[in-house]
Amino acid sequence: MSKSLQAIRGMNDILPEQTPLWRYFESTVARLLDNYGYKQIRMPIVEFTELFKRSIGEVTDIVEKEMYTFEDRNGDSLTLRPEGTAACVRAVLEHGITGGGQVQKLWYIGPMFRHERPQKGRYRQFHQIGLEVFNLDGPDIDAELIIMTWRLWGELGIRDAVKLELNSLGTSESRGRYREALVEYLSAHHDKLDEDSQRRLKTNPLRVLDTKNADTQAVLVDAPKMADYLDDESRTHFEGLKARLDAVGIPYVLNPKLVRGLDYYSKTVFEWVTDKLGAQGTVCAGGRYDGLVEQMGGKPTTGVGFAMGIERLVLMLETLEQIPEEISRQVDVYLCAFGEEAELAGLALAERVRDQLPNLRLQVNAGAGSFKSQFKKADKSGALYALILGDDEMAQQVVGFKPLRGQGEQQSIAWDALAAHLATCVVQG
Ligand code: ATP
Ligand code: MG
Repeated sequence: MSKSLQAIRGMNDILPEQTPLWRYFESTVARLLDNYGYKQIRMPIVEFTELFKRSIGEVTDIVEKEMYTFEDRNGDSLTLRPEGTAACVRAVLEHGITGGGQVQKLWYIGPMFRHERPQKGRYRQFHQIGLEVFNLDGPDIDAELIIMTWRLWGELGIRDAVKLELNSLGTSESRGRYREALVEYLSAHHDKLDEDSQRRLKTNPLRVLDTKNADTQAVLVDAPKMADYLDDESRTHFEGLKARLDAVGIPYVLNPKLVRGLDYYSKTVFEWVTDKLGAQGTVCAGGRYDGLVEQMGGKPTTGVGFAMGIERLVLMLETLEQIPEEISRQVDVYLCAFGEEAELAGLALAERVRDQLPNLRLQVNAGAGSFKSQFKKADKSGALYALILGDDEMAQQVVGFKPLRGQGEQQSIAWDALAAHLATCVVQG
């Protein structure tokens, strides 16, 4: 090829050798969410640009510089979704399923798109599992979200490598009062702030709190503290959350500088962070957004949710070598047949076995081949056992059953008894 075709920078193929780990991760999360009573929702990947401007906020990094926005053939401005909450809120409003205080506990999975600088753990197409709960306003549900993720880290074997950071942003009123005090303080120190923070001071002052700039950080040491501005309602809510985490024994660190990138949060915000992935350390983040639904044109409806980055969590499983053994083996049994007659019998036999053992991972050799080449393929497939159908086996209506991983001698099994025999020696997932 003169100029080779390539994927877009920051948009990755997930190759067959990687998908077993992805599927293990995704199915573990899906089972957990099922068990806690959450229901899956699926939204389109493309929405009107206006949706994200209105929900995420015009002066956030995402809307200012990270969206993939284009005009479609009708001249409508569309955007590849950069996150899931906006579309989820749009969907519940459009279908009226949160009306009259109906509780919805929803989750979704899929690709998100942001034009960021690609690097380890940061991509332009990445994948999230996200979750949103509507019409439950107490700290108990905030706690449940965190408890579920804590259980997930336990099941995945990465609990020791993540840390929970927690903060409360207060109600929009108390946050407004805090914002005023912060702006007043920072304005008095305007010259000592970095350029980015000077700009944010005008547009989105709370974001100054999570600056990486050392000079600005020094200014922030004596800045007003958000905790001092929390109203009673927010304070009680936050105490309720902490009490529940304590009751379950989930450790957390209070981080008063945790403000999150999006405009719509109120009260609880949290992040699960790790030091195992370098700079891209947040694996799951979320919070409460009691004002968002109304801001988007709905009746007042409380909400709380989070999203986790699948790439980062898969990377963590790899880094910490928490890859369960059973996912690396994708074939239980490999059937080799020699000659056309044996091939036909083998196909029919394989289908009968599948009727009886629907979870058996049985691969039938394709492409014929010599004894040696079929055995090589059987071995390479990772199968535990090879089944052999040659002239002798055909004559006796049996199949050769050969352990490939060094457990015992080859035996002959009658065709009718094959499924029962396999059931005793292959553990089925
Ligand atoms: P970050 O601070 O890392 O930019 P964020 O605050 O922008 O994250 P959210 O919008 O809250 O992230 O998304 C939730 C999660 O999705 C993040 O914690 C992270 O695990 C994952 N994520 C976000 N952006 C990316 C990206 N560009 N590539 C891979 N994963 C991402
Ligand atoms: Mg970001």
